[in-house]
Amino acid sequence: MKNLSGKIAIVTGGSRGIGAAITLKLASEGANVVFTYQNSADKAQALAAEIKNTGGTAVPMAADSSSPEDLKNVIENTVKQFGKIDILVNNAGIYVGKPFEEYTFEDYQLTMDVNVRAVFLSSQEAVRHMPQGSRIISIGSNMAENAIGPQTTLYTMSKSALQGFTRGLARDLGPKKITVNLVQPGPINTDMNPDNTEFADFLRTRMATGEYGKAEDIANTVAFLAGKDSNFITGAFITVDGGFNA
Ligand code: NDP
Repeated sequence: MKNLSGKIAIVTGGSRGIGAAITLKLASEGANVVFTYQNSADKAQALAAEIKNTGGTAVPMAADSSSPEDLKNVIENTVKQFGKIDILVNNAGIYVGKPFEEYTFEDYQLTMDVNVRAVFLSSQEAVRHMPQGSRIISIGSNMAENAIGPQTTLYTMSKSALQGFTRGLARDLGPKKITVNLVQPGPINTDMNPDNTEFADFLRTRMATGEYGKAEDIANTVAFLAGKDSNFITGAFITVDGGFNA
């Protein structure tokens, strides 16, 4: 029997990058995975087909993480289809980098809605359907502990909020035997942070390994936290950054 056989998982922002790798990994471990996307319908369908070909189950759902109604629908539709939720991975996130004076209120609103409010709302809705032993795993950033440089204020603020969220909710849900953890990636080669730019060269100089990570590095950490071997880990931040913050 696979590590996550019989488990029902939701991954937000699963169409590309880290979220796609998490979706693939959880499905390969036997979970039925519902994953959301906003714009990349084709990529979402292709990922679902790839997983189906290997005997797994992954269901794409269009849902804008900045919309509370969409988030609620994802939880309700998952429960309608599968009856419960064992694992919620709050992955969808955006990065808006600008000099501080140039941020608009819209930048602020969208970043906080997607990176913070969606995590709060999805978790709150999901918890109502989670049995003992369930998992809430959010994807933060190593920048919550090391802002790296200028033009990061808004993103860093949003990812730091997930630290407080994780600590508080771990205490709320501990008695229900639901764990709540935060994975904090460093530079990972995705559309958000491609490894072939001048900025990437600069980031590599700051890493102990000198190499970008792969989306699979984060997916492997999430799969560990999703499984039973992580029972005693809650309220924790696991930084996966090639020693960037060392
Ligand atoms: P990408 O930009 O490569 O992919 C983002 C994913 O999130 C896509 O699937 C996208 O969907 C989805 N998404 C974005 N906005 C929304 C929205 N409003 N509603 C629903 N889905 C949305 O990002 P990464 O894979 O690199 O990042 C994933 C997470 O990891 C984020 O939280 C990010 O902050 C974090 N992270 C990434 C790092 C990196 O170096 N890459 C480092 C540290 C943290 P669609 O395809 O439909 O647009």
